[in-house]
Amino acid sequence: MDDCIMIDNLVVFANHGVYKEEKTMGQRFVISMKLYADLYPAAKSDDLTKALNYAEICSFVTKFTQTHRCCLIEAAAVNIADALLKGYPAIDRVEITLKKPWAPIGLPLDQAAVHLTRSRHRAYIGIGSNLGDKKGYLDLAVRSLDEDENCIVRRVSDYIVTKPVGEVEQDDFLNGCIELDTLYTPHELLDRLHEIENAAGRTRDIHWGPRTLDLDILLYDSEMIHDETLTIPHPEMHKRTFVLEPLSQIAPFAKNPVLNKCAATLLERIKQQ
Ligand code: ADP
Ligand code: MG
Repeated sequence: MDDCIMIDNLVVFANHGVYKEEKTMGQRFVISMKLYADLYPAAKSDDLTKALNYAEICSFVTKFTQTHRCCLIEAAAVNIADALLKGYPAIDRVEITLKKPWAPIGLPLDQAAVHLTRSRHRAYIGIGSNLGDKKGYLDLAVRSLDEDENCIVRRVSDYIVTKPVGEVEQDDFLNGCIELDTLYTPHELLDRLHEIENAAGRTRDIHWGPRTLDLDILLYDSEMIHDETLTIPHPEMHKRTFVLEPLSQIAPFAKNPVLNKCAATLLERIKQQ
């Protein structure tokens, strides 16, 4: 999506900075933004109620910049971008430049500035439980993510009963899948999922053993990541019917970028084996 609203050089008097004088006296900050969103509905209808109201957005940014004080302009800029993405679901991406023309460095300069981009990301989360109130735990996962200000739950699959895989003798699983828009990075999202698992009383006694709640990141945009704590796409997703069935139900064309195949094709493939 290339459509965007551009706001250039909004001047705000605020108190960001490392020095005491900056915090107490304040100074000028100058903010430019590109707000990426689909502008066609407003363009086609010529209707303000379908538009992103840039007057309102400028007031919002001014107020926010004045009330959320930071030491660094990096932090101030990221907070403004995130606040816009949280407050305006129609905005997909924010590009922001925050300039500090009076930066107190004891040398003449036009300005110091940072420029950064923040986006919503689309992630798919596989959810499973085979201990205790299974449906209750899956519902808890959905609710916890939906209530998280950095996430919007877009869709939830039906929950399906599946047989356990592996050597361990254990109860049947209840499995599902969540489509999520999130501001978290992949590692922040993994940490958040671990918190939710822990809140559901998850223990890690036996590998692939019974669990109250298992939350796996299946896909995150079209990113490919492999490090000590995280592999995306999830390395087992293409082998598991209990993952691909709920994923295909809500996102048949979500693509595994390593295999270059979508969920529906991967499901078809294992059904034929
Ligand atoms: P499993 O899901 O394989 O049954 P766990 O839920 O106990 O096992 O996860 C073990 C570790 O796997 C996690 O602590 C996490 O660091 C790592 N991991 C690697 N990639 C992923 C991913 N895509 N989603 C979730 N966890 C992952
Ligand atoms: Mg897991």
